[in-house]
Amino acid sequence: MILGIDLGTTNSLVGVFDAGFVTLIADEAGQRLTPSVVHYPDHGEPLVGKPASRMRVLSPERTVFSVKRFMGRRVGEEPADMPYHFSGAPGTPIQLALGDLRLSPEQVSAEILRKLKADAERALGTSVQQAVVTVPAYFNDAQRSATKRAGELAGLEVVRILNEPTAAALAYGMDRQEEHTRIAVYDLGGGTFDISILELTGGVFHVLATNGNTRLGGDDIDAALVRHLEAASGCVVSEPAARARLLEAAVAAKHRLSEAEETVVSLPFLGEGVSSTEVTLSRATLEKIALPWVEKTRAHCLRALADANLEPESIQELIMVGGSTRMPLVQRFAGEIFGRTPNCSRNPDEAVAEGAALQAAILEGTLNQVVLLDVTPLSLGIETFGGLMNVILPRNSTIPCKAGEMFTNALAGQRSMLIRVLQGERERANDNWELGRFEIPFQALPKGQARVGVQFEIDADGILTVLARDTATAHEQVVKMASAVEVSDEAVEKMLEDALENAFDDMNARAFTEAKLKAEEMLPSVEKALARAGSRLPAEERASIESCAAEVREALKHEAAAPLKKAVTALDAATQTLAALVVELAMQR
Ligand code: ADP
Ligand code: MG
Repeated sequence: MILGIDLGTTNSLVGVFDAGFVTLIADEAGQRLTPSVVHYPDHGEPLVGKPASRMRVLSPERTVFSVKRFMGRRVGEEPADMPYHFSGAPGTPIQLALGDLRLSPEQVSAEILRKLKADAERALGTSVQQAVVTVPAYFNDAQRSATKRAGELAGLEVVRILNEPTAAALAYGMDRQEEHTRIAVYDLGGGTFDISILELTGGVFHVLATNGNTRLGGDDIDAALVRHLEAASGCVVSEPAARARLLEAAVAAKHRLSEAEETVVSLPFLGEGVSSTEVTLSRATLEKIALPWVEKTRAHCLRALADANLEPESIQELIMVGGSTRMPLVQRFAGEIFGRTPNCSRNPDEAVAEGAALQAAILEGTLNQVVLLDVTPLSLGIETFGGLMNVILPRNSTIPCKAGEMFTNALAGQRSMLIRVLQGERERANDNWELGRFEIPFQALPKGQARVGVQFEIDADGILTVLARDTATAHEQVVKMASAVEVSDEAVEKMLEDALENAFDDMNARAFTEAKLKAEEMLPSVEKALARAGSRLPAEERASIESCAAEVREALKHEAAAPLKKAVTALDAATQTLAALVVELAMQR
């Protein structure tokens, strides 16, 4: 199994493709988004994610965030205004200096990856060694190699480095678009903005242009909102823990306003001498605060279009990625730049991880088959009494799938049942294709009393497994059939045509067989009943039963269902009193 990982500046996620779809994995706290923050305590293991985030205020000098900005950088190329100390000679790889700790950005990223790997292993109940990890499209070789090394440090072989916009496009199903579809991926996250123009050619995404700003995102909006709240409540908050609470309240309010038009922000105990207060915040106000930052994305979009030599009208799809694109303002704004309604059909902060998991599945070889063969082309079942097809998994069942049915013995004292696994749409077993056969032994019992459960299961690869179990002894037999989905289109076509052409005959054959089984069961028991209790019936009634039975015997000679059914029904009606008499006699005895 290969993991798909979005190693983000602000948040990271891990997903897997399992049984037909992507699952993003939640950690023990039930969170799918892991803040990309690592805290190094004086003693003991580093903290990763939410708990580390909390330490950002309490212990900023031992807590690393936005480490992605340092990946693959050398001393002298470090991003400005980050609150860390660095060490190392100019031109050598950057080392973060946390007290006496010296850490490479890879080591810090590895802590995040290690946590994601552990969360995935716990959720999947198995160990995992491989991953697809995403990076921004503009990452250079050094940054990509550093990302790979981070994976290795975490015990993961990075089998593919995938561009984030490509991953997002996969998650949005853009690979199923027409050839030469051009897609704009507008990704506004916590601290970075990326715009990428992709083109789909030959089933592969090509990056036509990228642009963006590594210092622009939701964090800027948060900081501006904090300033607004301070002004509105008339207090200046300086104490770190109180500032952290204020920021947390601001971010939560921003998120709420992506759904609601208005919200109340409670600001309790912001500091000494400051009483708790409440500020009512409308979406309109937030949008006014956020607009200058969102406005900045326009120039990047226009530059990317110019680099790709394209007009906004030549973009067929605009997809939204990054948590900040949940803001209606951002959606409107991006839509306006590209002159089209943005596609927001996926969770924007999960799309990259989803795409990474899809890429992982493609590399595993599981996805291809599922995409091409996601339903059973023909019905699957077993032969039952009278040579009929008993369908267990109907045609067009979405795989993976599972279904079962209970069967019994046709003969008294029968010691085993032949399971003939069939594929096809015809009513008679022999007109369908046999995929395999096996015997399931069971305890000898009177007719109709054995209980044999038969279960069909098709996995995501289309492999059919048939299980048969004698419920009395729990003895079971499991047989793997070849692929149940790999049937040529022509063969499927032919089978469907034959089924249609012979529908009338087939239906008659099934109806006749069913009536015949019933007749063959009834005739001997009627005879037995007549011998036992016939003398107690009026002569005419006896004669009527005899003649009905004779008609059934006659109808059995011809392969027509309707007359036989009619005769069986008549015999059934004629023997009502007789049957009651037999029961009465038995009770007396
Ligand atoms: P990154 O790709 O930078 O790691 P994400 O895609 O997870 O980050 O985006 C994180 C940003 O999205 C944060 O600034 C967060 O506040 C913002 N965000 C998340 N959900 C919402 C929401 N519902 N409304 C507005 N912004 C949101
Ligand atoms: Mg991201």
